[in-house]
Amino acid sequence: MNTTTEQSKLIDGKAVSQRILDEAAEKVRKITTASGTTPGLATVLVGEDPASATYVKMKVRRCENAGMKSFRHELAAETTTDELVSFITQLGNDPTVHGILLQHPVPSHIDERAAFEAIPIEKDVDGVTAGTLGRVALEMPAYGSCTPAGIMTLLDAYEVDLVGAHAVVIGRSPILGKPMSAMLLNRHATVTTCHSRTRNLGDVVKLADVVVAAVGRPKFVQGNWIKPGAVVIDAGYNEGNVGDVDFDAALSHAHLITPVPGGVGPMTLATLIDQTANAAAQQLGVTL
Ligand code: NAP
Repeated sequence: MNTTTEQSKLIDGKAVSQRILDEAAEKVRKITTASGTTPGLATVLVGEDPASATYVKMKVRRCENAGMKSFRHELAAETTTDELVSFITQLGNDPTVHGILLQHPVPSHIDERAAFEAIPIEKDVDGVTAGTLGRVALEMPAYGSCTPAGIMTLLDAYEVDLVGAHAVVIGRSPILGKPMSAMLLNRHATVTTCHSRTRNLGDVVKLADVVVAAVGRPKFVQGNWIKPGAVVIDAGYNEGNVGDVDFDAALSHAHLITPVPGGVGPMTLATLIDQTANAAAQQLGVTL
């Protein structure tokens, strides 16, 4: 296979995310002019995990680049569940905050679910609450979890026909695999959700027209699992910029494939910014 052909198979998450960010910046201008209030995103980081700190920094930068206010909160690693819940509840009551992002994972002594559930659904721009997941599953308006929502935007940008397609999602986490499966099902894909107890995983993946890898294990999805012509979405992000798919081996089988980095990652960030702008518009009564 020549390089030009290989290049044409790459899903360019950077380009699509830039379009989303540009559109979000335009929404922010419109909201600020119409309401006199600048949309604001509050980020909450608990503890000093360097990777989490880097993610928050990237989110804050994108937020400010789009013309939004960012309210950055760093809490001590010893913060208790009660303290975190009450802090998030305060942000929920603050009218200058239109979206709340709790960076996860939080330290293990904290009940992460309780902390997530303190986010009011209208400010849940990262799509982490039970209410949001339920609304997504029921096809009600919601700000869906950013990574799967970003993946849906990518699939649409590349006009992937999901109706009747067999989509195999590997992973069932509350922020990735589960909402991903729900979103694909909403678009009429036939969805198989796989996890650590799935038998003969490779044989299941071989049936997929669309594969979403959300496992958290480097190069876990083998090239020979990919049906010729399948669309491969690698949501994984492991140490050393390595995805969950063995990219080099999968490339020759796939019709379209996301690289790591430059595929799903930038879409997650752009979706967060876009959803914060949409939440601000909703809360400030501005029609976009
Ligand atoms: P997670 O909560 O650890 O979930 C991993 C899932 O993979 C679980 O459902 C687990 O199954 C399944 N799994 C683990 N080992 C498996 C195996 N051997 N065979 C089949 N399934 C297996 O991880 P996550 O938060 O969903 O994240 C998944 C990946 O996405 C990670 O690489 C993470 O870094 C990446 N991520 C990327 C972004 C982004 O912006 N690009 C955002 C979030 C996450 P069980 O449920 O049975 O344990």
